[in-house]
Amino acid sequence: MTTALYAGSFDPITNGHVDIATRASKLFDKVYVGVFATPAKNLTFNTDERLALATDALAHLKNVEVIRYTTLTVDFARSINATVLVRGLRMVGDFEWEIQVAMVNKKMAPEMESVCFMASQEYQFLSSRMIRELAALGGDVTCFVPKNVSEALKKKGFAVP
Ligand code: ADP
Repeated sequence: MTTALYAGSFDPITNGHVDIATRASKLFDKVYVGVFATPAKNLTFNTDERLALATDALAHLKNVEVIRYTTLTVDFARSINATVLVRGLRMVGDFEWEIQVAMVNKKMAPEMESVCFMASQEYQFLSSRMIRELAALGGDVTCFVPKNVSEALKKKGFAVP
């Protein structure tokens, strides 16, 4: 039985994240989506909100469970018996950062493997940050995020159509 952890800030979860979680769920027996509680970023959604949005958006994937965490990613992975760290790689920009994260994690937890999924073509340029910026300017984000996320953005006061 192989358990994987797909960790991130998911502020908010996008169709790109859903795509990676879906593909990981086909490859691994159990996938935890770890919502990191305190990323070094200005957050739009608090941890409870990010957790609820991701849980709803992934509810159809039976072997996927969304869970919050506050510690070092590898320590959290160990605590849930995950041996694989799932990441998503978009065009060019992600690689440099993701290889650093993978190297550091390997040093700290040699027993763990980082597995990067290539972002699907339609989600290559999709990021949570882009969604927040689009929504702030009244752009239609409905084709980029699950329905519950566009509704949540609207409730937060974003000028989503
Ligand atoms: P961060 O790690 O900066 O908090 P996120 O929470 O947004 O980033 O993303 C978590 C993981 O999902 C990262 O590995 C990131 O590269 C990946 N990811 C984000 N958006 C996409 C996308 N559109 N397609 C594929 N992977 C993505």
